[in-house]
Amino acid sequence: MSDLKNKVILTVAPTGAWPSKKDTPYVPLQPKEIADEVYACWKAGASVAHLHVRDDEDKSSMNYDKFVETVGYIRDTDCDIVLNLTTSGQLGLEDEARMRHIIDLKPEMASYDCGSMNWLHTSVFENSPRFLEKLGTVMQENNVKPEIEIFDAGMIYNALYYLKKGILKAPLHFQFVLGAAGGMDATVENLVFLKSLIPADSTWGALGIGKGHLPIMFTALALGGHVRVGMEDNILYSKGVLAKSNVEFVERTKRIVAEFNKEIATPDEARAIMSLTK
Ligand code: ZN
Repeated sequence: MSDLKNKVILTVAPTGAWPSKKDTPYVPLQPKEIADEVYACWKAGASVAHLHVRDDEDKSSMNYDKFVETVGYIRDTDCDIVLNLTTSGQLGLEDEARMRHIIDLKPEMASYDCGSMNWLHTSVFENSPRFLEKLGTVMQENNVKPEIEIFDAGMIYNALYYLKKGILKAPLHFQFVLGAAGGMDATVENLVFLKSLIPADSTWGALGIGKGHLPIMFTALALGGHVRVGMEDNILYSKGVLAKSNVEFVERTKRIVAEFNKEIATPDEARAIMSLTK
């Protein structure tokens, strides 16, 4: 393994909770489609796959069987990409419905949304203290690394509280999600500020939603962070032009990272950087 300081973890989030086939016909929504897309992104160099699933009608969902099917397809191949499963694919669920797939499938990572917020001016994205305590404990018991998603600065202080309480364990891994209505906007200043608040031994990545995609990617690279691409965050390759595959985002990022004189981390290098223990 070469020098890890020069390596950038590239996460691909191919599906997410919102794009439909009407928004873009290229978004993978059902298990086999998602698994094939993940495989192609891994071949193109992605280090981590952050996965959501949809129900039979393609609506956002935490359907347990869909997670089992999707992860099963990926694990049946030679693909060794790090799997990161969402715990927030559908609003308003009971706590257990957000954790069952984590307990049974034991992905190496899963999202940990470190606070509640008003979501897109329409609903409440609820991550109660009770849920965060349960989820942190379940993740520790099952050796799943939390990816602490930060939409707002207060969520970092929640993470520090759970670190002190032992619900989260150092080194922490943060994902700054910028540009979601209800959270912090995707600006350079916001990312610089958020990065200044996390413990020095943490690892972190960042993403900007929609038009914030490239500015936040460049800022994250300049600040020494990791990056995420994919149709969960952005469906346009350029103004008015849909990406035809998540692979297009992976390949562009590889070129950008090379221009920074850095390299994309292999899955095993990503494991080493984030102290994954499997
Ligand atoms: Zn997600």
